[in-house]
Amino acid sequence: MGEPYFLTPVFQEKMWGGTRLHDEFGYDIPSDHTGECWAISAHPHGLATVATGPYRGMSLDQVWAKHRDVFGNAPGNVFPLLTKILDAKMDLSVQVHPDDAYAMEHEHELGKTECWYVIKADPGATMIYGHHAKNRAELRKMVETGQWNQLLRRVPVKAGDFLYVPSGTVHAIGKGIMVLETQQSSDTTYRFYDFDRVDSITGRKRPLHIEQSVAVTNVPHSDPQLTLEEIIIGDVRVTRFVKTPFFTVYRWQVVDGAGTFARGEAPYTLVSVLDGVGSITVNGTAYSLRKGQHFILPNDVRRWTLAGNLVAIASEPGERV
Ligand code: ZN
Repeated sequence: MGEPYFLTPVFQEKMWGGTRLHDEFGYDIPSDHTGECWAISAHPHGLATVATGPYRGMSLDQVWAKHRDVFGNAPGNVFPLLTKILDAKMDLSVQVHPDDAYAMEHEHELGKTECWYVIKADPGATMIYGHHAKNRAELRKMVETGQWNQLLRRVPVKAGDFLYVPSGTVHAIGKGIMVLETQQSSDTTYRFYDFDRVDSITGRKRPLHIEQSVAVTNVPHSDPQLTLEEIIIGDVRVTRFVKTPFFTVYRWQVVDGAGTFARGEAPYTLVSVLDGVGSITVNGTAYSLRKGQHFILPNDVRRWTLAGNLVAIASEPGERV
């Protein structure tokens, strides 16, 4: 009983995207401006398909709707999480996402709290993360007078960094950065500023949402306090980056070794292999793993053994979802 369900991602072309999703991960991407790999997604804007097991060929939202036992009979109308890999060849727009209450009232979907694990960053690469306005009136004034350099806070990043981006945090992924993003399953983005660029795909400037952005931004900005926890399972180093009401996110690292995990309280687990090769063994069957694969460990997988040389990001749903 129980096996990992591997997924087939979908890709999104973006004016800021590049070719690293092919160059780094070998994905068959649609163009040289591919920005996003929606890897574990039941969102209607990009549905991942189950590639293995009894539900092979079904989209993830169908499995959620028809086979809730896979997810331990977790409640909710929509599959709550979305895992993406992003390739920012250019800066993304400066944006902010609403919380659940605002998003439900205005957009009829979940809010968006997200987080990033930095896979790769060019030397000197920076994220926009937070702002310097002291109050909402000052935020509005700086936006209206275009004082973006004074307003926006830039943070240098490198591979292996983790950033938690709660709803209401002004942010932009900077050029030269690849991240794995774990987020609430939502596509509601309020765009604050787009560097006055014209979209190379549509030939137009992308719309801004200044009023909504000012309304939902946390003022003043304060950095969330993260407490990293590390545990060792056999030869696997498990780093818990964040545990929130929306999701818990871990990194699993193993070098020439193995470790056997037992399912905790979480009803299911999402896994993305970011580097290396190895295997996952469930009930005596070994499934080979390599960089770029994404899978779900359903509820009936109670124990699994990870082996080889691997770096993976795993996530579990939080209590809120
Ligand atoms: Zn975002």
